[in-house]
Amino acid sequence: MTVAYQYVCVSCAAPQAWGALCYRCPLCGHNLRIENMREKGDDAPSSGAEIVAGFRGTGMWRYAPLLPVSACWASRLAVGGTPLLTLGDDEGVHLWIKDDSRNPSGSLKDRATELVLAAAKWFGCSRVVAASTGNAGASLACIAASQQMPATVVVPRHTPYVKLAQIRAYGAQLHVIDGNYDDAFDLATGMADAPEVCCRNTGFNPFTREGKKTCAFEIAEALDWDVPDWVVVPTGDGNILSGIAAGFLALYAWGIATRVPRLLAAQASSSHSIAHDWLVSEASGALPAVPTPMVPNTVADSLSVARPRDHLAALQALRMTRGACAIVTDAQIMASSQLMSHRHGLWFEPSAAAGHAALSDSISSGRIARGARVVLLGTGSGLKDPHAYERVACDTPEITQPRDTVPSSIFPGDTPDARVRGRP
Ligand SMILES: *Cc1c(COP(=O)(O)O)cnc(C)c1O
Ligand SMILES: [Zn+2]
Repeated sequence: MTVAYQYVCVSCAAPQAWGALCYRCPLCGHNLRIENMREKGDDAPSSGAEIVAGFRGTGMWRYAPLLPVSACWASRLAVGGTPLLTLGDDEGVHLWIKDDSRNPSGSLKDRATELVLAAAKWFGCSRVVAASTGNAGASLACIAASQQMPATVVVPRHTPYVKLAQIRAYGAQLHVIDGNYDDAFDLATGMADAPEVCCRNTGFNPFTREGKKTCAFEIAEALDWDVPDWVVVPTGDGNILSGIAAGFLALYAWGIATRVPRLLAAQASSSHSIAHDWLVSEASGALPAVPTPMVPNTVADSLSVARPRDHLAALQALRMTRGACAIVTDAQIMASSQLMSHRHGLWFEPSAAAGHAALSDSISSGRIARGARVVLLGTGSGLKDPHAYERVACDTPEITQPRDTVPSSIFPGDTPDARVRGRP
C-alpha cells in the first residue's frame, strides 16, 4: 500500500511538500499537521479492514500502516502497548484507565519521542534537542540513548528532581535555565537551527502529535473498536489532546470505528489557556489564533504552560470531537491522586491525576452522564514527582521502636483497640 502524506498548516491550511523535516507554516507561522491524503478519499471505508489486517506485533509500531514514518527504524525500547485497565463502575460511570506510565521513561511522551526520532533518522538528522517541563526531556534522553543519538534538553527551574535525574542518568546534556517553559521553548528552537539537528519541541514538531495518535489506536483496539463515550485528557500544551483526537478521527475516516469519543480536556486552574479560549470561541464561533497567556503556578508541573504550544490544534480537536474543558485546583488534583492510589493501586503524577479530578467535577456538574463509558489517560508515573505527595501526606510516618508488643493499630482505618477487640 502506498500512502502519500503532506504537511498542512493548522491555521491557513497551506500545504507543504513531504520530503524534509518541516516545523512551521512559511506563510503564517502556525504549527503543521501531517495529512494522510488517502484518509480524505471516498474509498476510505472499504480499506479500513485491509489496514487493520496489516497491524502486526505489539507496541506502538503495531499501527505502522497509520503512521507517516516507516517502522523499519530499529526500535529497541518497547514504547506503547500499555494496558487499558478496567476500573469497573466508579463514581457512577464505567471507567478504564490507559496506564501510559508504563512506557520506558514513565510517561506518554515516549510515543511522541519514538516517532520523532524515527522521523529524524529518516530525514537524516544526527542530533536532537527539546524544551521540556520534565517528561519530554526525560523521554528524549531515554529514547535517544537507545539510538546512540546525542540529545540536549532545556528545562525551566523548579523542574521536579526525579525528571532532572532521569535526563542526566540517560546521558543527555541538560540545560536548566532561570526562566519558565516558554523561555526554554524558544531557546531550544534556536538551538535546532542547523539541518542536522532535530527539534522535538512539543507541537512545534508535527511528529509529536502523530506519535500520540497511537494511544487512541490502542484504546480503540482494546475495546474492539467500540470507542468510549469520553476520553479525559490532561492538557498543558494541548498536544496530547490534538494527538488523541487525530487518532480517533483517523479510525473514523477509515471506517475502522463508527464513532469518535468526546474529549474532556483537564486543565490546572492557573494554566487554563485552552479552557479559557474554548469558552470564548463557543461564544464567538471563531477559534482564537493566539493563546490567552497565563501565569502558571500549579503542582501539576506537566500542565504548567503560559502559552500552550499546540493551542489551535487543541481547540480544533475539541471542536471536532464535541469536547469540553474542566478546570481543576491543586487541592482537587491531590485529592484525586490520593484516591487513585488508595482505591486502585495506581499512583500517577499530579498532572495525570488532574484527569480524574476533571472527571469527578464533570460528573457532579452533569456534563458527563452517569453510566457513560469513560477512559482516563494515566499520562505519567507518581514516582516522577514524589515530593508532590508531601503536600497531601504532610504527616511524617510515625517511627516505631522495635519492642515486644505489636502496635495496637496495624492496618489503615484500625481504631487503636480494634486488634485487641478482634481477638477471640
Ligand atoms: C506532557 C504531559 C501532559 C500534557 O500534555 P500536553 O501535550 O502538554 O497537553 C500531561 N500529563 C503528563 C504526565 C505529561 O507529561
Ligand atoms: Zn499557515
